[in-house]
Amino acid sequence: MEKRSQVYAGKAKSVYSTDHPDFMVMEYRNDTSAFDGQKLAKLDRKGMVNNRFNAFIMERLEAAGVPTHFVELLSDTESLVKSLKMIPLECVVRNVAAGSITRRYGVQEGIDLDPPTFELFLKSDELHDPMVNEYHVRSFGWAEESQLETMKALTFKVNDVLKKLFDDAGMILVDYKLEFGLFQGQVVLGDEISPDGCRIWDKDTREKLDKDRFRQDLGNVIESYEQVGRRLGIAFPE
Ligand code: C5P
Repeated sequence: MEKRSQVYAGKAKSVYSTDHPDFMVMEYRNDTSAFDGQKLAKLDRKGMVNNRFNAFIMERLEAAGVPTHFVELLSDTESLVKSLKMIPLECVVRNVAAGSITRRYGVQEGIDLDPPTFELFLKSDELHDPMVNEYHVRSFGWAEESQLETMKALTFKVNDVLKKLFDDAGMILVDYKLEFGLFQGQVVLGDEISPDGCRIWDKDTREKLDKDRFRQDLGNVIESYEQVGRRLGIAFPE
């Protein structure tokens, strides 16, 4: 497939059209951002690490029956993906309290959430991704009832697969964000799954191994992403 022109550039990834309308090339850049784009940096190797990390996770999810947009790795920083019509929502599952939920509800970081929570946020930089509920989704038509049900079911299926995957490698999947889109009418997992959009802690020490290292200036950001990947069995090139 031939890579053509750039159709979209987000904060960390760029998307290119191809000579086939159903497929796009997703390029993972080294750009990193936090706090709604207020904190920015370029981190060496980040594009490569997240591209390979995402490929590994998406393949695991496909094998477990979660339809994803991932097709194949094209290079260290590029993947071929299905072209989705994105649903403008972020689905967040939390197994342990951290981040915005601790501030919103005044709860302590680290408490187990049983059952895990499911939250929806409207994807809007302008509005700073406000939290919305299922009635908002239906009333404003951001997704159809059946699509929302599928997104919820797939989000929890992802939780079953990934919680075990990380647990087996001595890590805790604290929380994560998923985005979905439509491909030929089917709800399909899009965007990326990497330590940029998940919180991952070491099971024994509870050390943070994800983007909170960047948000909180803890250092060794990409070294930690690579450590998480290696513990899952991903081989990163030198
Ligand atoms: O900030 P908050 O605690 O709500 O984030 C929950 C989870 O969703 C975290 O793993 C965070 O990295 C991810 N997230 C994301 N992109 C956003 C908002 C949250 O990847 N725009």
